[in-house]
Amino acid sequence: MNPCLLCGAPPDLIGVFVPIDPGAWGAAAGKVRAIRYCLCDSCAVEPGAADRLEKVIEHELLQAEGV
Ligand SMILES: [Zn+2]
Repeated sequence: MNPCLLCGAPPDLIGVFVPIDPGAWGAAAGKVRAIRYCLCDSCAVEPGAADRLEKVIEHELLQAEGV
């Protein structure tokens, strides 16, 4: 398993992030990309964790695709 996406600690759970607008993420129209991520318990219950996750995932995707 990967470390916690937000703090790098050993992960306690795995989540799946599904972008609402796949086209904005470089996916073909109509094709939904689900992105798997790992989280630790303390980050999972943190207020705003979902927003932070989205930004981190988006950043990694853009880097991976060289945009
Ligand atoms: Zn964490």
